[in-house]
Amino acid sequence: MPRRLMCVVAHPDDECFAFGGALALAARAGLEVYVVCLTDGQAATNRGESASGQDLGRMRRDEFERSCDVLGVTKHEMMSYGDAQLEFTPLNGVARELVQRIRTWRPHIVLTFGLDGSLNVHADHTMVCCFTSAAFHWAARSKRFPELGLEPWSAQRLYHQSTSFTLADREPQLPAPWTVELDISSVKAVKEAAFHEHTSQLPVLAKVQPYWDRYGDKEQYILAGSSSDPRAVVLTNSLWEGVEDD
Ligand SMILES: [Zn+2]
Repeated sequence: MPRRLMCVVAHPDDECFAFGGALALAARAGLEVYVVCLTDGQAATNRGESASGQDLGRMRRDEFERSCDVLGVTKHEMMSYGDAQLEFTPLNGVARELVQRIRTWRPHIVLTFGLDGSLNVHADHTMVCCFTSAAFHWAARSKRFPELGLEPWSAQRLYHQSTSFTLADREPQLPAPWTVELDISSVKAVKEAAFHEHTSQLPVLAKVQPYWDRYGDKEQYILAGSSSDPRAVVLTNSLWEGVEDD
């Protein structure tokens, strides 16, 4: 059975700008990758040629699918939570949906944003961290959501995304120190090609390009949960260190 990685994001394009290196590396190693996106990105500042929010949502759904194909994602899903509304969405309901998916797909490792909200300190990014982190822990607990009728599943690692730089024109985010630094230089072009599929968001790419050129060979992650015995922080260069096969 191939190893499985599940990544939970808030918006179409998060999967490539934040996690694209990790996802492309996993796909190229023959691992199964599942990306869940909670919203269709209707509230984006950059709206392309769209005539309405719904129209933009449809465009971004297609862009998300194409980006996932470029990255080599095995399975992708876009849910219908409201863009820019996640902080007003009850935790229990979203976590339950994610627990259902974790228990069904049974990932070895789970990736999501950090509490800082990533480079643009987006509240939706902070919330997807809350939902996914709760679901990671609750999926393993038999007393949580027994009505789902699914066996508890303990994913072996939870990682939050972190960043080694801040944007000059923004109030800086307050990221946690990373514990994993991935060398993504071998798939940097793939990550960039995936972003180019987000046609409506190309103005964002133009803005971040100087940062991408300077820092884009690496991605940083924080080990935020582990099924191994508790241990002190260790800096590694792999998301799979110590992960066991089924
Ligand atoms: Zn986002």
